[in-house]
Amino acid sequence: MPAAFIGHGNPMNALERNRYTEAWRALGESLPKPRAILVVSAHWYINATAVTAMRTPRTIHDFYGFPQELFDVQYPAPGMPELYEEVADAVHPTWCGEDKDSWGIDHGTWSVLAHVFPDADIPVVQLSINADKGLDYHLDLGKKLNALRADGVLVLGSGNVVHNLRGMDWGLAEEGYDWAHRFNESAKELMAAEPTNIPTLDAHTDYRAAVPTPDHFLPLLYLAGMADDSGRGADVLIDGYTYGSLSMTAFTLDLDRPATGDGTAGSDPATPVAPPDGSNI
Ligand code: ZN
Repeated sequence: MPAAFIGHGNPMNALERNRYTEAWRALGESLPKPRAILVVSAHWYINATAVTAMRTPRTIHDFYGFPQELFDVQYPAPGMPELYEEVADAVHPTWCGEDKDSWGIDHGTWSVLAHVFPDADIPVVQLSINADKGLDYHLDLGKKLNALRADGVLVLGSGNVVHNLRGMDWGLAEEGYDWAHRFNESAKELMAAEPTNIPTLDAHTDYRAAVPTPDHFLPLLYLAGMADDSGRGADVLIDGYTYGSLSMTAFTLDLDRPATGDGTAGSDPATPVAPPDGSNI
């Protein structure tokens, strides 16, 4: 089973059709049907490594300042409580908690899956990001989770390589600042050629600007770990920038080229919807 990292950007992407969401749709159409989807979302950033283990995970609307239609979105995919044991075994001896009633499916997950698997008929399980741990811990977990792919589990990271909310300019719908380009290009080079060295990006000149908080960057470490464990580099599915300080780059591992994932289809730019400062995107 292939694996992927998606730059999710504005939650409104859940409702829009643009060149990113078309690439996500092409990804879904290119994948074999997974047994389950394990998502590492930037928006489940807590003080532990844990897995959702409820039969019917709720759709979480973890933002504010957006139109009602976004709060009305439901992603009614089933859970798969038994996947907890498989994940816990894969990451052993790292401890992994079993979340039976706390989290669910957050917008980092459903804003992407609404396009990748619009029918919401494949079980979805989330893996939290342990905020107490450094880059190497997350790379190592990615390596361990690589084994799940052989058994039909799609492992999907959802964040953004470059994600600086304070630096956003809503007038720059399709542009990125110079420092955003520099950091993103360095990440692309490492993901293609030496994914095991992705943690060295913390010494990059532009790291503090591109990664002011690690939550959106860390999901990439999981794909880097899987790529390293597989002995292969990751491929760029779609590339681009939005609001100056976010990159929308998505990567795949072991995916044949999607039929329409080259960024040329459905090229209407997203209409920016400006939430109040501090909205959780
Ligand atoms: Zn986000």
